[in-house]
Amino acid sequence: MQIIEVNTKSRPSKVYCGEGAAEKFSELYAGCDAFVVTDANVARLYAARIGELFPHAPVCVVPAGERSKNRNTLFKILDAMFAAQLHRSSVVVALGGGVIGDMAGLAAALYMRGTRLVQVPTTLLAQVDSSVGGKTAIDYAGVKNAVGAFYQPETVLCDPAFLHTLPPREVKCGLGEVLKTGILDAAIGEKLQENRGRLSDLSYLSELAADCIRFKARIVAEDERESGARRCLNLGHTTGHALELAYGRRSHGEYVLIGMWLESFIAEREGVCTPAHAQYVRDTVALVQPRIPVFKDARACVKYALLDKKNSARGA
Ligand code: NAD
Ligand code: ZN
Repeated sequence: MQIIEVNTKSRPSKVYCGEGAAEKFSELYAGCDAFVVTDANVARLYAARIGELFPHAPVCVVPAGERSKNRNTLFKILDAMFAAQLHRSSVVVALGGGVIGDMAGLAAALYMRGTRLVQVPTTLLAQVDSSVGGKTAIDYAGVKNAVGAFYQPETVLCDPAFLHTLPPREVKCGLGEVLKTGILDAAIGEKLQENRGRLSDLSYLSELAADCIRFKARIVAEDERESGARRCLNLGHTTGHALELAYGRRSHGEYVLIGMWLESFIAEREGVCTPAHAQYVRDTVALVQPRIPVFKDARACVKYALLDKKNSARGA
């Protein structure tokens, strides 16, 4: 098991990464009141496991998927936290993919101005990316992640055992963030190219997860509130989020892949990167997304891209 420290100013966190990480909970939080937030799919697949890992903890189950990442679900979680009479030293466990991590994280930040938070990511995307770094949010007023907070978890338990039940499409979504990290970090990028034949091998992917977490931990420690270096982690996201809002049929990780492909052309045209680097970005995306779909309504996407919270100025 690897332990990766995320040394942020607001609250340092520790990521336990490897087989058996989930079992660490009982050791680290013995005697604490735990409250589990999960989605309907994870609750169904892991009913017995949840009982073993978090005995006696109330379990709040919300509908699965991006469509439930909204204020109604957020308030449903807060209602359940009040009903369970949590206090500020209770431990909220976000057990699920990025949607649960973002929403339960925000509920933990808001409840009594902050309870303790443990992320237990169950998708590849959440393990390599969203559970680390403290960004929490819901979608609001048609804008992705528009209402949220920076709120660091105390602990992230990244256990590859959860990945065995992931449908291939969700593995591909996680690979979207893995390839993003490979484009940003030369060493990870090289590893990915060398092991291009192993990108559906779960044990290889969990090895890569630790590399991706270490990279993100370094960036987040340097720039927790995204005023500098952390912005690089948004590669593919402005375009990806706009497509996601305009078309909505795919999920976050797939739109990140498509977004990186499209942004490579914009960057090349604007002189932000060399044609060779732009081609490298496209070749990397092609490792898991060889065909890019055609999107006909560019104007709708531009509208959403302009609403993106990462904009520092509004264009026409
Ligand atoms: P998700 O949470 O919707 O999970 C995808 C699907 O997999 C869901 O249907 C879920 O029920 C199911 N699932 C979860 N664990 C499973 C398991 N072990 N076995 C089988 N099925 C399982 O989506 P996601 O791709 O994990 O996360 C996407 C979200 O993460 C987006 O809302 C995005 O904005 C957010 N995100 C946040 C950050 C951040 O820094 N906070 C970073 C990247 C993405
Ligand atoms: Zn992302």
